[in-house]
Amino acid sequence: MRVREILDFFESCPACGYAAQAVAVERDLPDGRTDVEVRVGCALPCGWQDEPRGPHASGGAGPR
Ligand SMILES: [Zn+2]
Repeated sequence: MRVREILDFFESCPACGYAAQAVAVERDLPDGRTDVEVRVGCALPCGWQDEPRGPHASGGAGPR
């Protein structure tokens, strides 16, 4: 599992208005694909986090 910071992410936190941060969490799946989940959260410790956003183009991972 790898975590990459997304540097071209410029949204702001809806709770406090400060800049939000996004990271891409990459997981290597057993079938060779890489599952990428984008997690968005506030850069300040206000506690705001957005829902994880998965990529839509690759079909995504189904429920387990
Ligand atoms: Zn915030």
